[in-house]
Amino acid sequence: MGAGEFDLIRRWFTRAPRHPGVILGVGDDGALLAPEAGRELAVTTDALVAGVHFFPDADPEALGHKALAVNLSDLAAMGAEPRWFTLALSLPASDEAWLTAFARGLWTLAEYAGIDLVGGDTTRAPQVVVTVTAAGVVPAGLALRRAGARPGDRIYCSGDLGGAALAVRARLAGRTPPPAAAARLDRPTPRLELGRHLRGLASACIDCSDGLAADLGHVLSTSGVGARVRLSDLPLHADLAALPETEAWDLALGGGDDYELIFTVPPARGDELRTRLAALDVPVRPIGVITAAPGLVLEAPDGRPYTVARTGHVHF
Ligand code: ADP
Ligand code: MG
Repeated sequence: MGAGEFDLIRRWFTRAPRHPGVILGVGDDGALLAPEAGRELAVTTDALVAGVHFFPDADPEALGHKALAVNLSDLAAMGAEPRWFTLALSLPASDEAWLTAFARGLWTLAEYAGIDLVGGDTTRAPQVVVTVTAAGVVPAGLALRRAGARPGDRIYCSGDLGGAALAVRARLAGRTPPPAAAARLDRPTPRLELGRHLRGLASACIDCSDGLAADLGHVLSTSGVGARVRLSDLPLHADLAALPETEAWDLALGGGDDYELIFTVPPARGDELRTRLAALDVPVRPIGVITAAPGLVLEAPDGRPYTVARTGHVHF
């Protein structure tokens, strides 16, 4: 028999918090948290549902990592520093091996990111659903937003795109994805350092979870602008090199699950961006420019506009 609800919480999800701002953590009706003066809280939630966001037989350690990573990616896109999170866990059974692996993935990333688990909920359900709510802090007025891109601003993208989508495609076809692409899908790296370094510099920022076309599209619509992106400048994942270029573009533009940052910077501040990036170990590429005319124009290498075959995932 597996651990009971409270034994489960105590064994796998109760650790002493590291931040002094946690007045009260797991074990009461709610957590008590004290944000530092002069900071705003950035709060985000993402649910991962078996069969929708991950394969039901997914490695539980990777799932523990990813459930937190996707939320940290949202904090990164706000320029926030991680502080606290809660974990709502729905499980078909209290399976010791599964919980141990899941907790290992979760805590390893939590420790790396310096974020404390301060509460949650544990329920039985027909399938696994992992919901993390994460909060971070950002100096008042300096959070990065989707709105704020202006015509002439340069568009940048961190890391590379399309690897996770390639891995999904391979698994759906019953094939084993190349290891690097599988790692992009299973263990995304939230760009926390980059997000912090963009405060006060990027005019807009978003994390790329649904594919570049959809996510840049959100920046464009909230900012009331358009964009031109050169497809020859897209940072494609190395495992896409063997594909026909239109297939590679479609995975990068419409695939999702990359968790890179897409952001805009006024052209006069390009040198400042390069100086700030020099302190970081994150590749960043310029991919296009913001335009006054609305809409996203994708420029193929021959100069012609390209229409993406798939767009980002929409649930309803
Ligand atoms: P309540 O009755 O107020 O819903 P619970 O009995 O569900 O509280 O939970 C007891 C305590 O354990 C609470 O502090 C809650 O935040 C915490 N908790 C429950 N599940 C988890 C979990 N999966 N991870 C971390 N903390 C949890
Ligand atoms: Mg409860």
